Amino acid sequence: MDLTGSAEKYRRSESPDVGNSPRVLVVMYHYVHDRKPSVQGAAAGNADGVRGLTTDQFTAQVEQLGRELEPIDWPRLYAWMDGRGQVPQRSFLLTFDDGLADHAKTVLPILNHHDLRGVFFVPGSVLVECRLLPAHAIHLLLSTLGDERLAQELGAYLRGREDGRVWADALERDEDASLGNAAAMYHYETPQRARLKHLLTMELPIAMRRDALETLFARHIGSASRWSKHWYLGWEDLVALRSHGHTVGGHGFRHEPYSRLSPREVREDVSRTAAILREGLGPDLRPFSYPYGSVTDEAVAACREAGFAHAFTTESRSVDDTCDLMRLPRIDTIHVGAVLEKELSCSQA
Ligand SMILES: [Zn+2]
Repeated sequence: MDLTGSAEKYRRSESPDVGNSPRVLVVMYHYVHDRKPSVQGAAAGNADGVRGLTTDQFTAQVEQLGRELEPIDWPRLYAWMDGRGQVPQRSFLLTFDDGLADHAKTVLPILNHHDLRGVFFVPGSVLVECRLLPAHAIHLLLSTLGDERLAQELGAYLRGREDGRVWADALERDEDASLGNAAAMYHYETPQRARLKHLLTMELPIAMRRDALETLFARHIGSASRWSKHWYLGWEDLVALRSHGHTVGGHGFRHEPYSRLSPREVREDVSRTAAILREGLGPDLRPFSYPYGSVTDEAVAACREAGFAHAFTTESRSVDDTCDLMRLPRIDTIHVGAVLEKELSCSQA
């Protein structure tokens, strides 16, 4: 994983005024698996290149966090922010996005072994539909075809439909503005991969993107519904996570950036997520994480209306007692080393 610049990026985003109020490092994870993920044999595609932490990297980071900071669970964070309890001066909370099967197979045993309680944010659609989320179809296509070939295949697909030609041109043009936006969102990727992911996630009309991914996935990998059965957590996994004291939260239904949806679509997406979790797991206080960290005023209002107690973004800094409950920041796993280095230098100063 390319960590170049991540320490600098974190330092720029963190306020220089450390202060004395408690701070909670909420860490965000996605894939945690070794070279051969659990879907091996599901189809002819290649999951080896799907990036994330290996189990050794994850275990090492969890142990490092445990040496430097004190662990808390989400109910404790909630009680503190609600004015009904305390948290240690420097603590951490682990969160896992996207409802990936990795989280039950790989993460759960490690957390249980270390007596840690995490938060698992699950997109509603993976629980009720046998479909791969676009983000994961893109990861699998990239690891199967590589950047160059996927760009060619996507360009050819777009050129083949009348409403797609303007996008095929955009893909070839490499405009500075698009490259800049792509690099900002996917700073940990190569420029070419960042451009491709940004076009697919943030630019192509959503329906066209869905058609393109379905076509390319069926052509080069196989049945997306078959992959989805191995890729995600199921209800029985969520019940097991809860029985070990972990928290299950919402991560949208369709897993689209809310900045791309209409206000009505945002409200529907959030309320549907809440309803699915309520029906499957019973009524409870639950947190939410915005897909892609994309938070809008409409999404904040929708989360409040749907009864979510907290909502997390991907703004890279620690949680303190001044934070907005519906815009709580989180730090990506790739920035944790830099953050701990800074915590240590502050406590020694
Ligand atoms: Zn996500």
